[in-house]
Amino acid sequence: MDGDGTFFDQLMECVKRDGERHPGGVAPETMRELCSAAAPPGFVRPKPFARRAEEDPAAETPLRRPAPTPAAAPDDPPEVKLEKMRLYSLNCRRCPLAATRTNVVFGEGDPHARLMFIGEGPGADEDRLGRPFVGRAGQLLDKMIAAMRFKREEVYIANVVKCRPPGNRVPTPEEAIRCIGYLERQINFVRPEVIVLLGATATSFLLKRNEGITKLRGIWPDYNGIPVMPTFHPAFLLRQESAKREAWHDLQQVMDKLGK
Ligand code: URA
Repeated sequence: MDGDGTFFDQLMECVKRDGERHPGGVAPETMRELCSAAAPPGFVRPKPFARRAEEDPAAETPLRRPAPTPAAAPDDPPEVKLEKMRLYSLNCRRCPLAATRTNVVFGEGDPHARLMFIGEGPGADEDRLGRPFVGRAGQLLDKMIAAMRFKREEVYIANVVKCRPPGNRVPTPEEAIRCIGYLERQINFVRPEVIVLLGATATSFLLKRNEGITKLRGIWPDYNGIPVMPTFHPAFLLRQESAKREAWHDLQQVMDKLGK
C-alpha cells in the first residue's frame, strides 16, 4: 500500500507540474520519470512516447494536441517519412496561424533532392492552393531554378512556417519556433547537398544568426553539416530589380558547388 502511495504521489506531482508547462500533454521527461518509478504490482505502465519526437516535431511547445498519425519508422525512405509528416501537419493546431489558414503548406519536391530552397511562409496564393511558391514570387523562383539548370520537381521547396501569417506579415518568433520542427525534419529527411535560404526570415531562423543576408551571402555558413547559401527573397527581387545580379551570383556559386 505504501509503495502504491509513493508511486501515485509521484505521478500526481509530475502531472500537476506538467499541467502548467505542457497544457494537454505530459512531457517526455515526465514519461521517462514515470516509467522508471517503482510501480505497484499489477500496474500496467503507460507506453513511453519513444517515437514522439519523430511524430511530433513541435512536441516541445504544444498548444493543442493534433490527431495522432502513424509514426515514421527510422528505416522508412525519405518519401514515406515526408508523407507521414505532411499528413500529420494537416491537423496541426500548435500556433494561432491554424485559426486563419485555408491550407497547410507543408512543402514539396523531390524527397532525394540535391538542392533545397527555404522561404519564409505561405502567401495568399500558397494558402489557397496548399503549395509553396506558386504566386508571383514563386514564378520568379521557378525562373531562378530553371536558370540553375534544375527542374522545379527536382528540388525541394519549403518554408519556415507552414501556415499563412495574416496579411503576409513576418511570422512571429513564437510561430516560427512552434513550426520549425517540421522544417528541421524535412531537412533531415531530404539531406540535400546545398540549402538556399530565401530572405532574412529563413536565414535568421535556420542559422540563428542576425547579421542579415548581405553579411552572410557567399560565406557558406552550414546547417548541420549542409552548406547554406542565404540570398535575397524573390519577393524582394521583384521590388528591387538591381539586387538580381547579386542573387544570380549567389546561385552561380550554388551551381559550382553542385557541379552544374
Ligand atoms: N513567399 C515565401 O516565403 N514562401 C512562399 O511559399 C511564397 C512566398
